[in-house]
Amino acid sequence: MSGLTDRWGRVHDYLRISVTDRCNLRCLYCMPEEGVAFTESSNLLSFDDIVQVVEAGAKLGISKLRITGGEPLVRANLDQLIVRLAGIPGIEDIALTTNGVLLAGQAAALRAAGVTRVNISLDTLDPVRFKFIARRGDLKRVMEGIEEAARVGFSPIKLNCVLLKGINEDEITDFLRLAYEQPLHVRFIEYMPIGHADDNWKNHYLPLTSVLDAAAVAGYSVQRKHNVKGNGPSDDWEMEGGIGSFGLIHPVSDHFCKSCNRLRLTADGSINPCLYWVDELNVKPALGDAAALEAVFAKAMAVKPENHEMAAKLADEALTHVPTERRMSQIGG
Ligand code: SAM
Ligand code: SF4
Repeated sequence: MSGLTDRWGRVHDYLRISVTDRCNLRCLYCMPEEGVAFTESSNLLSFDDIVQVVEAGAKLGISKLRITGGEPLVRANLDQLIVRLAGIPGIEDIALTTNGVLLAGQAAALRAAGVTRVNISLDTLDPVRFKFIARRGDLKRVMEGIEEAARVGFSPIKLNCVLLKGINEDEITDFLRLAYEQPLHVRFIEYMPIGHADDNWKNHYLPLTSVLDAAAVAGYSVQRKHNVKGNGPSDDWEMEGGIGSFGLIHPVSDHFCKSCNRLRLTADGSINPCLYWVDELNVKPALGDAAALEAVFAKAMAVKPENHEMAAKLADEALTHVPTERRMSQIGG
């Protein structure tokens, strides 16, 4: 049995690493417009620290990594970290989630360094709406990032699209057409109440059944697709005659906690056993001591809860435990 098995028998082989909590965008579902109190750079895990944590995790069975943030591409010299992570025995796969704004300039170096797959966040195909949702940045640069990622050989390229009621739900068909016409895997994601569960979330939360309805109305004949590499909790579909595919990630309406295989490492040095709850374990006191780092992973297994309760939150029911106050940008998604 793996060294990272929790009380519910779930084996963990996947670590999501947030390399910064800073970001060049301010997506309205992720970070407040004014930003948050960012971690001082002296309190960020250094590349040496991250490598130590991953070495300890790899000994216990971690084989897949995802580099995230904040926006990971604002962390200087990220490719140098990737090279080091790729060289750790047991690490087989290093994926990246990025908003794409800086990707065109870094895609080749990241691929050469050892990034195996990229997910690019894209919630709208309309440049004006992009400014409304992301509050900063430029859609054109994201599209250039997607093109460059394809040009340097990343495949499949996945697009993460958070669906927001009343904001981008009218673009579902446009995203489906994109997946039909291009070799892209579009992942529609439900809006989660991470670090905030206010009216903004409730008003804009959209269950993903609307995607299959939109596909039917648009005349696509869809069937379930299996074996999308690294598909994790995504329900994947393909459209008859289409080149790409799409996926549904519905943590709120139908959670996938039973098959959870992931841990998260925050930029300021905590292992979060669950995205939703407040519990976290600080790795900093254990740095420099491989056995102590392994013990932090073991503790994460001991305290990991059975599931989150986002659906209960939506229904205004009492929760059994305390949700985190971190925003998604401070955890890594
Ligand atoms: N900055 C990078 C990006 O946007 O891809 C990586 C970090 S971001 C926190 C990781 C993923 O979380 C993105 O795909 C983003 O859309 C998603 N995300 C952020 N806040 C969310 C929320 N409240 N509900 C659902 N997904 C969210
Ligand atoms: Fe930044 Fe990503 Fe959060 Fe948007 S979703 S604010 S790009 S961290």
